[in-house]
Amino acid sequence: MTVDAPVLRVAIVGGGPGGLATAIALSKVPNIDVKLYEQASILREVGAGINIGANSWNVLGLLGVADSLTTGHPEWTVLNMNGHSGEELHRRERAPDPSLKRPTIRTQRTALQSALLAHVPPGTIQLSKKLARLVDVGDQGLEMHFKDNTTAPADLVIGADGIRSVVRDTAWPDYPLAFTGTTIWRTLLPLDAVQDLDPRFQITGWWHSPTTHVYFSPVGEGLWEIAARAYHEPATHSASKVSWGVPVANAHIREALRRVPSGGWREFAAFAGPELSRLTAWDNRVVLVGDASHALSGAFGSGAGFAMEDGWVLARALEHFRNDLGRALPLFDRVRVPYYSRMYAHLARQAAGRKARLEEMGGETSYDELVRNKIITDGGEDMSWIYMHDIGAVWADTLEELENTRKA
Ligand SMILES: Cc1cc2nc3c(=O)[nH]c(=O)nc-3n(C[C@H](O)[C@H](O)[C@H](O)COP(=O)(O)OP(=O)(O)OC[C@H]3O[C@@H](n4cnc5c(N)ncnc54)[C@H](O)[C@@H]3O)c2cc1C
Repeated sequence: MTVDAPVLRVAIVGGGPGGLATAIALSKVPNIDVKLYEQASILREVGAGINIGANSWNVLGLLGVADSLTTGHPEWTVLNMNGHSGEELHRRERAPDPSLKRPTIRTQRTALQSALLAHVPPGTIQLSKKLARLVDVGDQGLEMHFKDNTTAPADLVIGADGIRSVVRDTAWPDYPLAFTGTTIWRTLLPLDAVQDLDPRFQITGWWHSPTTHVYFSPVGEGLWEIAARAYHEPATHSASKVSWGVPVANAHIREALRRVPSGGWREFAAFAGPELSRLTAWDNRVVLVGDASHALSGAFGSGAGFAMEDGWVLARALEHFRNDLGRALPLFDRVRVPYYSRMYAHLARQAAGRKARLEEMGGETSYDELVRNKIITDGGEDMSWIYMHDIGAVWADTLEELENTRKA
């Protein structure tokens, strides 16, 4: 006779890509009662587009969601331009490959969200539940206190509440999240509204200034995305920015920005914080996934993929140890902490390299030289560990290691 594992009450806080993927993955693990609490009253993605590369497709496949994501612009070509002169500085080109079932695409964030939502079991999500506090009630487990003065119990709380996570602030009260100085404005508009300006607007492109960039891309269904950034020194930054004067002087870019209808922009302040040495806390009863677990501020343009991988691996670890938190959560840490650590190390090396090149250039550096220096990002380094990452294979290796350790 087998003894069933006890039913584990799991609460996910946040309904972004990380929370939704975690809910899908956990809903298939036996003896887990999963609930997702989201602060918004309607689950509606803000933002504009999102990249779905091989790493994200891999995890979407494992979640059973890939076939539900059917719209997007295939990114066969990606351009980097000088945002002032329009000079093309770098072109990454792959021949369209009709045999490739799932090329890298730029799609609407709402398309990813709808695809994920379609796989979350009905009754899992509770809206208008903004977590205010998390309390340890000893043998009774954890208690979530929401802004509407209601509470809910849980044995495990998963913080999928994004870069400004309340769960992380509760369990890691000294975590130093800081404004990076970068503000991002994003919008979608019909491609038809701008394609007369420059044929390159039909291709994914980065238009750079020395400190920032404007990003344009079709996202499928006749829509076109703009993500414009501006940098303000954080120490002197005022919260009430009225003018964001993107320092990219190209006339066609300015005209494209002007064509965005009034009220069309969404503004995002970018925050970042250091790596955590563990993503689990409170005696393995709290765990972070997605942006809450690694405040990298959109670096690598793959954060939704990382968030979904977190959710899938967490479910595998719980399933493997039959919901034994004391064994499953350390295993989750063992898989994910080194991965995030590698990302932080990569970004630190990249920043140091850029700084060293600037120092070599000396003080009298022109706009064009500064832009050229800026787009040398990875120095030819193989980035397949991010963009081709196969979380299913990582999990298979982990199981093999566990088995070898057991046999030893
Ligand atoms: C400019 C920019 C461009 C990007 N481009 C890409 C890209 O191309 N590809 C990609 O993969 N990633 C991209 N990213 C990163 C990606 O958006 C994030 O990594 C991803 O959304 C993280 O998912 P998440 O579920 O962890 O958090 P989020 O998407 O931030 O979701 C968090 C959810 O938690 C909810 N929440 C927050 N606080 C509470 C609370 N107290 N109580 C209840 N609910 C709460 C929020 O309402 C939200 O629904 C980009 C990021 C930026 C800033």
